[in-house]
Amino acid sequence: MRSIHDNLQAVRGRIARAAAAAGRDPRSVALLAVTKTHPVALLEQAVAAGQRAFGENHVQEAVEKMALLAGNIGEQRACTLEWHLLGPLQSNKTKLAAARFDWVHTVASEKIARRLSAQRPAGMATLNVLIQVNVSGEASKGGVAPGEIAGLAQAIASLPKLKLRGLMAIPEPTRDEQTQRCHFFGLRKLLEKMQTQHPALDTLSMGMSDDLEAAIAEGATLVRIGTAIFGDRRSKGTESSLAPVLQKTRPAV
Ligand SMILES: *Cc1c(COP(=O)(O)O)cnc(C)c1O
Repeated sequence: MRSIHDNLQAVRGRIARAAAAAGRDPRSVALLAVTKTHPVALLEQAVAAGQRAFGENHVQEAVEKMALLAGNIGEQRACTLEWHLLGPLQSNKTKLAAARFDWVHTVASEKIARRLSAQRPAGMATLNVLIQVNVSGEASKGGVAPGEIAGLAQAIASLPKLKLRGLMAIPEPTRDEQTQRCHFFGLRKLLEKMQTQHPALDTLSMGMSDDLEAAIAEGATLVRIGTAIFGDRRSKGTESSLAPVLQKTRPAV
């Protein structure tokens, strides 16, 4: 297997080529390393290879890994990392999420937004949030319908501890590049529409291992890459799979 370092280099190369092909500055596309289900040892290798932004889907899993990682690389280096929550967020997890993450990509209701703002600890910077949009109309994927974006954006804009940055989507997986681009194009158009009301919005979180080129061609500013960096996930990332994953990373005593 290739090393995490090599995989990261390869992904950075793909981003640079896709940006160049679209006439964009490669620095306008941030790389988020998605580490759900992967052991902390792999995160450590990514940090050693210069990666700073990490995405996780489950609050609890993320918080446990943050602690283990800080133990291994030191608090001072751990402080320089940026954590993004990518999974659906339930009310009973907003407090922990608000205290530990820098970004939440999956805001899809005013209720969750209000809780995140109210529970963001005093003294912490505003929490960056994205509205998750269901662009391909699948019932299972979460996110708001395009028609609900404007109202939710208005509500978020009034919350003191949140900073609305843009939109996120997870379109249905397809190998057909035309269809991929069509979904990503749709998301960009939705952001452009929002920008007439909220000109500071600057983030389109879209594109994963199999479709980052299409996403960058359509304007992604942040791609979320798991498999292409860390290999296949051993499980779907359910809570029950977490114990063995974490155990493997604990140093032998
Ligand atoms: C798992 C996941 C990713 C990464 O997907 P890969 O195909 O492994 O790159 C990106 N975004 C979200 C929301 C995810 O859950």
